Amino acid sequence: MAAFEKTESGKRLSRYMADAYLNLHTRAQQGAFVVWIAINVPAELFLGFDNVVYGVPESHAAMNAGKGLGVVQCEKAERLGYSMDLCSYARIDIGCVADGGKDSPSFGLPRPDLLVSNNNNCSLLVKWFDVHHREMGVPHFIIDVPFCYEPQQQKDRAYIVSQFKDLIKTIETMSGQRFDMDKARQAVAHTSEGVAHWKRFLGFAKNRPSGITAFDSFVQMAPFLIARGTESFAAHYRLLADETGQRVAEGRFPVPSEKYRLFWDNIAPWHQLRDMSAGLEALGANIVGATYTSCIGSIEGSFDIYPYDGGDPLEFCARTQNCYICPHGLGLRSRAMRQAVESLQIDGIVFASNRSCKPYSITQLDQQRLMQDAFGVPAVMVEVDHADARKYSREATFTRIEALLEAIDARRAA
Ligand code: SF4
Repeated sequence: MAAFEKTESGKRLSRYMADAYLNLHTRAQQGAFVVWIAINVPAELFLGFDNVVYGVPESHAAMNAGKGLGVVQCEKAERLGYSMDLCSYARIDIGCVADGGKDSPSFGLPRPDLLVSNNNNCSLLVKWFDVHHREMGVPHFIIDVPFCYEPQQQKDRAYIVSQFKDLIKTIETMSGQRFDMDKARQAVAHTSEGVAHWKRFLGFAKNRPSGITAFDSFVQMAPFLIARGTESFAAHYRLLADETGQRVAEGRFPVPSEKYRLFWDNIAPWHQLRDMSAGLEALGANIVGATYTSCIGSIEGSFDIYPYDGGDPLEFCARTQNCYICPHGLGLRSRAMRQAVESLQIDGIVFASNRSCKPYSITQLDQQRLMQDAFGVPAVMVEVDHADARKYSREATFTRIEALLEAIDARRAA
């Protein structure tokens, strides 16, 4: 099976995404209250209302980059005076909004009634949403989430919950709708069920050869960003995990000649998924896992699922606010990575230094040393930008990856 053979889940994903964006535009036209959110704002809260929908500019930017439109959209923002050093998600989104969604596969996002950002992944995002606040005259609600060098403290959780309550009141006031805690509880339960299937899907990477590539997981994470809290979200991931399990049972693997099992650190290089996947397969290498997709549904310092016990949904959403890697200090990052390296039997790590995402990249050099020196896992650093293809060199990247494979061979021969 070729690495990019279209599976049933892959075909279903294309339909799912098209329907999700169509539904978003349709409901907005019919009068739904529209919120634009940062990826880790708890979407389940909006499902506690009858008629609130949300769009996710980061996910929309990733989709543009994946369809080869990243540079086109970035250049629009650059012509407005935004620096090339700014995160390419921000440039894509600002550029796309500036000309009314032109060139976007989904015709952009419907105009928001409210912007909701948070500062746990980065402060740049807050400034980016502030641009929309100024340009569109739309209110901007900022959730302040404490950084976590260590596991989250109860006082931090209480502080986050108090802001969720303020956000709910704000939406009630602005939209005239009432929030229903039981609906939010149900939404969290759907998310939690879907995440359990997601972890089951990722678990097929433990097989030798792996049942998945990290590229499969990059593509399949989209519903997590734009459709959390729904029954269809849980159903999609159940079918994905079931189909992957069936393929493994039948002996159908994305890289059957797998010789090297690699791990990826940083955001997906959206513009290179197909080329990088095929190039690695030709070398007998498979990136079987990634921090970016493993952290979904977990809490800091581990990639294991953090289960929902049916309790207070606000408390649960606050506890999982820092699930992504960016807000984690080096100790938490390396603890989780070491766990993944051991459980997936990883031969080498590719650290992708990301020109756009400084918060993800800032500790990578220290982490690379730690993995190599303390745990003896060969690693390389490659230079990418997750959405701006102008800042990527295929030749330089593959030269380094080939050097990593040689280092793995040398270690095996020693
Ligand atoms: S810099 Fe990184 S964390 Fe911040 S918006 Fe860009 S991709 Fe997200």
